[in-house]
Amino acid sequence: MVKYIPSSLDDALKFLAEHDAYICAGGTDLMVLKRNIAGHLPKFDKDVIYVSNLKEISKIYEDDKYVHIGATATLDEIYNNKLTPELLKKAIGEVASVNIRHFATLAGNIANASPAGDTIVIDYLLDAELILKSVRGERAVKAKDFVLGVRKIDRQKDELITEILFPKTKYDAGMWYKVGSRKADSISKVSVAGIYSIQGGKVSKFALAYGSSAITVRRSEALEKEITGLSQKELANRIEEFVEKYSQTISPIDDQRSTKDYRLLVAKNITRKFLKEVVEAKHE
Ligand SMILES: Cc1cc2nc3c(=O)[nH]c(=O)nc-3n(C[C@H](O)[C@H](O)[C@H](O)COP(=O)(O)OP(=O)(O)OC[C@H]3O[C@@H](n4cnc5c(N)ncnc54)[C@H](O)[C@@H]3O)c2cc1C
Repeated sequence: MVKYIPSSLDDALKFLAEHDAYICAGGTDLMVLKRNIAGHLPKFDKDVIYVSNLKEISKIYEDDKYVHIGATATLDEIYNNKLTPELLKKAIGEVASVNIRHFATLAGNIANASPAGDTIVIDYLLDAELILKSVRGERAVKAKDFVLGVRKIDRQKDELITEILFPKTKYDAGMWYKVGSRKADSISKVSVAGIYSIQGGKVSKFALAYGSSAITVRRSEALEKEITGLSQKELANRIEEFVEKYSQTISPIDDQRSTKDYRLLVAKNITRKFLKEVVEAKHE
C-alpha cells in the first residue's frame, strides 16, 4: 500500500490518475473513520495521498465575482482571513475546537458529506461552487449538487477539490444557529443558517438552510420565492404558515445525538425566531 506526499498539484493529480486512493487533507474525519485499536496506526485498505502540504491550493483570494478558498486552507486560516464571508466564519467558529480547526479543511467537511457537517450548510446557503481538477481537466459543481447522500459525493476517483468559491452575495443580515450538546466541541443536533435583505418594507432577498435535519442540507427555493417580495407586514401575518411549510421540507431522524421530535421542535423555533427578525428588521 502506497502512502504518498505529492510535491505539487500536478504530481497529486498524476498520482490520483494512476491510483485508487484516499485523499487525506486534515485527516480529522478520515483518521477517525479508519482508526485502529489503541496504539496502532490507522488502518487503510487502499493507497493514501496526503494533500495538506499543497501550497498551490491553500490560498484565499478574491476576484470580481467570488471569494476563492483553497482546498488545503485550514478552517483556522479561513476563520482568520478578512475575505471570508462572515456567516462562514460564524459556522467555522463553532466547528470542533481550535486544535481540530488547525488541521481541518472546508473541502474535507463537504467531501465527508456528513448530514451534521456545519460548513456545508453555509456552502448551500451562499450558493458556493467547488472546483474539481484531474489530469483530464477541471469542472465546477455547485455545493448543492455535489453532496448526493450520506458520505456520497459527485467526485470521480481521479479528481481533487482544489477550491471552493463563494459568490460575493450582498445581504442585510445573516444568522447561524447551531444546537449541540455543549457550547463548544460539539457535533450539531440541528443547525440553521439564513440571510435576508429588506428594501422599502419588502423582503428583497431571503434564504434558509438546515443542517442535521435530513440526509443532506435542506434549502427550499420554492419557499424562498414565496417569501421574497412579501411586505414585512404580510410576512408577519404568515409566520406560522411558513414555520409549518419549512418543517415539511426537513426530515430529521432519531440517532445517538438527539431525537426526531426534538430536532423538529428546535428547527421550528429557530425558523420562527428568524422570520420574526426579518419582520422587525429596520433596514432600508
Ligand atoms: C473531535 C472532532 C470534532 C469535530 N467537530 C465537528 C463539528 O463540530 N462540525 C463539523 O462539521 N465537523 C466536525 N468534525 C469533523 C471534521 O473535523 C470536519 O468534517 C473537517 O472539516 C474535515 O476536514 P479534513 O481536512 O480533516 O478532512 P479529511 O479527514 O482529511 O477528509 C475528509 C473527507 O474529505 C475528502 N477530502 C479531503 N480533502 C479533499 C479534497 N481536496 N478533494 C477531494 N476530497 C477531499 C477525504 O478523502 C475524506 O473522504 C469533528 C471531528 C473531530 C475529530
